[in-house]
Amino acid sequence: MADYLICGGTSYVPEDGNTGAQMFASGEGLTYNDFIILPGFIDFTAEEVDLTSALTKKISLKAPLVSSPMDTVTESEMAIAMALCGGIGIIHHNCTPEFQAQEVMKVKKYKHGFIRDPVCLTPHHRVSDVFHVKKSHGFGGIPITEDGKMGSRLLGIITSRDIDFLEPNSDKLLSEEMTPFDDLVTAPAGVSLDKANEILQRSKKGKLPITNEHGELVALIARTDLKKSRNFPNASYDANNQLLVGAAIGTRDSDKQRLELLVNAGVDVVVLDSSQGNSIYQINLIRYIKNTYPELQIVGGNVVTAAQAKNLIDAGVDSLRVGMGSGSICITQEVMAVGRPQATAVYKVAEYARRFGVPVMADGGIGSVGHIIKALALGASTVMMGSLLAGTSEAPGEYFFSNGVRLKKYRGMGSLEAMERKNTQGAAADRYFHGEGDGIKVAQGVSGSIVDKGSILRFLPYLVCGIQHGCQDIGAKSCSMLRSMMYAGELKFEKRTISAQREGNVHSLYSHEKRLY
Ligand code: GDP
Ligand code: 5GP
Repeated sequence: MADYLICGGTSYVPEDGNTGAQMFASGEGLTYNDFIILPGFIDFTAEEVDLTSALTKKISLKAPLVSSPMDTVTESEMAIAMALCGGIGIIHHNCTPEFQAQEVMKVKKYKHGFIRDPVCLTPHHRVSDVFHVKKSHGFGGIPITEDGKMGSRLLGIITSRDIDFLEPNSDKLLSEEMTPFDDLVTAPAGVSLDKANEILQRSKKGKLPITNEHGELVALIARTDLKKSRNFPNASYDANNQLLVGAAIGTRDSDKQRLELLVNAGVDVVVLDSSQGNSIYQINLIRYIKNTYPELQIVGGNVVTAAQAKNLIDAGVDSLRVGMGSGSICITQEVMAVGRPQATAVYKVAEYARRFGVPVMADGGIGSVGHIIKALALGASTVMMGSLLAGTSEAPGEYFFSNGVRLKKYRGMGSLEAMERKNTQGAAADRYFHGEGDGIKVAQGVSGSIVDKGSILRFLPYLVCGIQHGCQDIGAKSCSMLRSMMYAGELKFEKRTISAQREGNVHSLYSHEKRLY
């Protein structure tokens, strides 16, 4: 007799790979790189994959992507781009409460195609000032207002064509060169983008200033933007069709005033920004917010264990932010000896929190699309990213060159440099600096730089498309299906040895160029 088993037809499939529960049963902490997901069956196209995911109990997003509340990642420009592409940005709080609220307001007031904060000059400025704006900002169509600011009376406009034949250092007054108000084509506040488009086409002008009933400038529309005007069908909107935005706050008493300004500015979700969220301070603040602003959604954290999660869930959080020490700029695990490898943290917290309908946001350590897919496959509903989004044109800060490479700054909020900003701006980078005792700062992050990545409006569609392809390979037609496959034990994982990881990366080449999209 042959000592092998003959099975009827092809119905028999041997057990292969591990379920999530089996993979994490061993007790060792795993990172995203320590495992791989086994492929499933494909009977749909990648575009059909639905990435709708819960950010909080009440807010869901079309793309599970969140930008981190860091002062080199998220201010209004990043938050607008994130929301346009279906995710959300969380405005950092290493600034005054007024500045942060203003940034929130800019996102809520944003209307696609309208420049809400155009650079303006006064009639007393000189032609050389226009050349200066052109050189530093790249555009030359500048509204002339009474006090040189947005919101004051529009007196005219100066465009590149008005000064084409003048010397860059000309000290001629703009009052002599500008096209005066009476000759301008303008549109009234409240005009729709379609209508503005029509006016610009008819007038053949390059700029359309929008004014209110007092003749004050409220926005500007550029013909070039209308021409390249794109649709964002997945944009994250609230019930009033305004973009969604979040903001981070600390857990001190003074943060209650900050929160009031943020709520008045229209913030949709607040992230309680603690590196170790399981504290009496955070629990008290959650209760206070739930009493004072019952509609406001709260993301609590950070946590990495079910025991930490329990306290915040009991206090009433609407979402949990998971991660401690896994961030690219982070030295918490080295300095504090506390934290957890991120894949294990995400799995353990998500597995607990789902019983209470609390979604989980995997925060930190995301270095590629693959990491996003792994985080989602381990039970996270959204991922929060810092380094992956830093270095884009929408991230705060100016580009600079080092050894011929175009770079932007990226730093941990617990770096000494970020904490110093607190001192100079009366701000609140309290996440890592508790100010107790003699006030010695213990850095939990570093400061560095990131290569120019271009616009986030090109990068996010790449991330979205990449996640869809990953889900397709796994055989999951949606993010929620991915999670239910994992909890049903249908999704199979395998740990990767060091050599398996090496094999899974580019190898054996003399040189290569890694272009991602
Ligand atoms: P210009 O004719 O030299 O002003 O330049 P274009 O109209 O060709 O391009 C201006 C681009 O800069 C458009 O994409 C605008 O949306 C963008 N932009 C951003 N902020 C401003 C601003 O404050 N003023 C102007 N004029 N354009 C801005
Ligand atoms: P990244 O996406 O760069 O890997 O990680 C970003 C995350 O790192 C942030 O969302 C935040 O949770 C965390 N983080 C930001 N600054 C610091 C810091 O200075 N120290 C530590 N430990 N974590 C930080």
